[in-house]
Amino acid sequence: MPAPLNSPYQQLRGGDGRREANTSAVLRTVLDHGPVARRRIAALTGLSPAAVSRQVLDLARLGLVRERPELVAAAGVGRPQVPVDIDSGRVAVAGVHIGVPGATLSLIDLRGRILAREDVSSRGPGRTAILERVTGRLPAFLAAHKGALSIAGVGAVLGGRVDPERGIAVRHEPLGWYDVPLRAALERATGLPVYVDNHARALAQSEILFGHPDAQHSIVAIFVGHVVDAALGSGGRVHLGPRAATSDLAHQPVPGSRVKCPCGRTGCFEAVVSDTALFEEATELGIIAEPDRALLSEAVAAGHPGADRLVRRRARLIGRAVALLADLVNPDVVVVHETFSGAHPRYLDAIRTEAVGRSHLCDDPERIVAPGTGERALDVAAGTAVLANIYGDPLRTVAFDQSPGV
Ligand SMILES: [Zn+2]
Repeated sequence: MPAPLNSPYQQLRGGDGRREANTSAVLRTVLDHGPVARRRIAALTGLSPAAVSRQVLDLARLGLVRERPELVAAAGVGRPQVPVDIDSGRVAVAGVHIGVPGATLSLIDLRGRILAREDVSSRGPGRTAILERVTGRLPAFLAAHKGALSIAGVGAVLGGRVDPERGIAVRHEPLGWYDVPLRAALERATGLPVYVDNHARALAQSEILFGHPDAQHSIVAIFVGHVVDAALGSGGRVHLGPRAATSDLAHQPVPGSRVKCPCGRTGCFEAVVSDTALFEEATELGIIAEPDRALLSEAVAAGHPGADRLVRRRARLIGRAVALLADLVNPDVVVVHETFSGAHPRYLDAIRTEAVGRSHLCDDPERIVAPGTGERALDVAAGTAVLANIYGDPLRTVAFDQSPGV
């Protein structure tokens, strides 16, 4: 089993890395432009046509690309070339998103599309009950859905501090997880290579691969759920800082707030804007019967004025944080993952209006977006923990001539 590389976060190591880098460049070009002719790949990558042909051969042997002879007639003038495209029919990845209150399992193709998914309930005693349920269920889930696909690996993402190099969930307060050896547990359960990451970093990476085109230049991803996380990507790579921490917005002060934070101070951003705080306040105000996402989602969808007021107020506070990050980092794109704005664009609009009104640099609301991978962005992000390694270093992430089988 190859050791996880997490190569999107670091320069390629070993040898001069040129062959690996070229193969990655060709695969990324096919992802962005496919179906695409070899000579156009050569023009886009700066590689010679002969080098492109060698890389395409390698990538086809890995099961990652395929020729599309049926498109030759439409290829235009000159000597016809068979276009090359991502092969979605041979290699896929598994994704595990661990959240509060439950987890999801998914099967995802090389273009970041979800082929199958399943919710895993967290019910059970003990703080790692959810992990036992995931490891118990994942092999059967993959066996039921993968068909002839070969599974290149399992990506597992969650909030809080996650160390991709050691494969450990270092700290996730709402789950009560401290130094949980997530990679080892999933490797034991599946026998597959496992890549773990923080979900905000994985969201940024999936936006770079499959989302907004400008995210390849620079991106800030903000996640607001039961935890608050932010991550930065630049030049197509996601930043992994010291101690594997993401950017920490959680304890930025919110002016005027008296909400107590577990850190001992009052008015910390996470304590004010988290789903935990939102659901509890909605319960205290009698909008919902108990602090529960589905209940508040129903109230929001039904147009409950009190629910709308709370979610809108939170959107404005998130907009302030977006303005702060936009001014500090000046990214091309800010992707915001918030519980309600994906399904209800009015809350994304509220975030944008507040952010643009407060930012000194960002005057274009279109630079603030919901995840391009859609409402299941976290599931795609989980698979992206593997896919980023495939696109970053296909030769070392995918085994040659894999026969189908987990
Ligand atoms: Zn705090």
